[in-house]
Amino acid sequence: MLRQWRSSIGHECLPASAPEKRNNDVIHRQHFINGAWAEALGWNETTVHDSATEQAIGKVVHATEPEVDTAVAAARSAYAGWSQLPLEARAAYVRAIADRLESHAETLSSGISAETGMPIKLVRRIQVQAPISAWRSTADAAARALAETQTGHSCIARVPVGVVAAITPWNYPLHQITGKLAAALMAGCTVVLKPSELAPTAAHVLGLAIEEAALPSGVVNIVFGDGSTGESLITHPQVDMVSFTGSTSVGRHIASVAGHALKRVALELGGKSASIALPEADPTLVARHAVGSCFLNSGQTCNAITRLLVPEDQYEQYRDLLKVAAEKMTLGDPRDETTRMGPLVSHEHRERVRSFLSEAAASGLDLISGGPDAPVPGLGYFVAPTIFGRVPVHARIAREEVFGPALAVLTYTSEDEALRIANDTEYGLAAAVWGDESRAMAIAQRMRAGQVDVNGAPFNPLAPFGGFGASGMGREGGIHGIAEFTELRAIQTPPTTKS
Ligand code: NAP
Ligand code: MG
Repeated sequence: MLRQWRSSIGHECLPASAPEKRNNDVIHRQHFINGAWAEALGWNETTVHDSATEQAIGKVVHATEPEVDTAVAAARSAYAGWSQLPLEARAAYVRAIADRLESHAETLSSGISAETGMPIKLVRRIQVQAPISAWRSTADAAARALAETQTGHSCIARVPVGVVAAITPWNYPLHQITGKLAAALMAGCTVVLKPSELAPTAAHVLGLAIEEAALPSGVVNIVFGDGSTGESLITHPQVDMVSFTGSTSVGRHIASVAGHALKRVALELGGKSASIALPEADPTLVARHAVGSCFLNSGQTCNAITRLLVPEDQYEQYRDLLKVAAEKMTLGDPRDETTRMGPLVSHEHRERVRSFLSEAAASGLDLISGGPDAPVPGLGYFVAPTIFGRVPVHARIAREEVFGPALAVLTYTSEDEALRIANDTEYGLAAAVWGDESRAMAIAQRMRAGQVDVNGAPFNPLAPFGGFGASGMGREGGIHGIAEFTELRAIQTPPTTKS
């Protein structure tokens, strides 16, 4: 069985023993339940496409309600044993999973790159090596995250929530799975994962890694499927917590279902993040970073900076610099090591992004670069990196998440106005500010977002990641991400009385 799965995850070189193969299609007909790959019972399926060739490269059979039920039951029965293991024993398993993922790094990279469209060079670093490190750093952080504390005569402990339903999207599949699973496992929870069916490679390889690391049966279960598989999971009475990453609209639905059942819920949702360039900032640096952030993974990044706020009297200078920087984002095959930007994930998603761009172009905004009709490769779900300037605050492209390569440049005339515009959003996932460090710090403290980068500071995987408002609730990463999967329990002993 293991050999069969090993062969089924590689898109390019499928040996004859692969489960099924028709015209380069890989048909995934199994779910990982109670420590073994089980033949899928359902008939509904999704076709997985290579985003650069538009070719079908796989099919995923959706898990049915009885399969979800079996997976949850397996997680429930594994819970007592796993939650009572000493922390170091859980950490050893988590580190072993990281080692096994590392051994499959190239399969992960080529699969994720084909599915999401992100250039292979970036995938290796951001989508594969960074999550593998996060499995290890989560194991390292657990003792601190779960340490007992004493308050008066109460001993306060963090105890695992129980059985967790983890639901993840397609844009950074291994990273998002890791943010939930590594933390939940270290907290002592057991898990049923429902990954996005548009990018199944990461979850398939994770299943293999878990099997190779000999994790106790039922601690992690993986059911492939669409929203209806997810719905069976979130409504299951034996699920104690739902941890979801995805769109704000599905997040709202999950919050209402979880609220009604009084399940714990953590939501990592969308964003419309702003960067403020103060007058003293270096425009060349700001423009380069703005383009790099907004167009990373073709804009399919939840914390991408998608609104750039520049001083009104520097607009023309920024316009020129942004145009030059965007034109360097050459579009190409994500398999090519020199490609800077690849296609979007799917035909449907490209059409959605294009409709945003067409509406913005038709409204007469200053088109700095790209646009809905800019030339793109003939094959693949490509959209040109696009920048609109002098965007009014009420424009759709300044308010709604496009989730594609679209940057909106807005202008301001005072620091207070810049802050007002930056915070005038229902979202609050990320933000950035550029300028004199002490002034930038003061502004960062007034920004309503879960993460604020000053002067291009890099991502810190140990810092809490999550949003305000419509960007969700709860945090992932480091000790805060582990704490998310715990309940607090205080045990009182009689206070010692002085004689
Ligand atoms: P999505 O449509 O919300 O889907 C996310 C996951 O939820 C998928 O696995 C999806 O299955 C599943 N799902 C859909 N309906 C469900 C239901 N009723 N019950 C349970 N599960 C259900 O999002 P997406 O299109 O995959 O991802 C893009 C979105 O995710 C963007 O809006 C982005 O901002 C957000 N995102 C946020 C973060 C963050 O950390 N804040 C990170 C990455 C992405 P299907 O595949 O069948 O839809
Ligand atoms: Mg979806």
